[in-house]
Amino acid sequence: MVDVDVDSVRKLKCDKCGSRFKYPERLEKHKEIAHNKKKEKCRACGTEFHSTENLRKHKKVCKERM
Ligand SMILES: [Zn+2]
Ligand SMILES: [Zn+2]
Repeated sequence: MVDVDVDSVRKLKCDKCGSRFKYPERLEKHKEIAHNKKKEKCRACGTEFHSTENLRKHKKVCKERM
């Protein structure tokens, strides 16, 4: 039973996109960022962002343009 490590690594696979992770916390973080989190949308121009941080940065530029 030398392959126990390999087997546990296989379990840490994202069922939505197939990405594999060594650590459970990494997988959880990935799911949160890539799949579970709702997209942030700029109300002014409709551009979608994966993180609030990106949207915040964009809003500054977006406002300046208007
Ligand atoms: Zn995924
Ligand atoms: Zn915008």
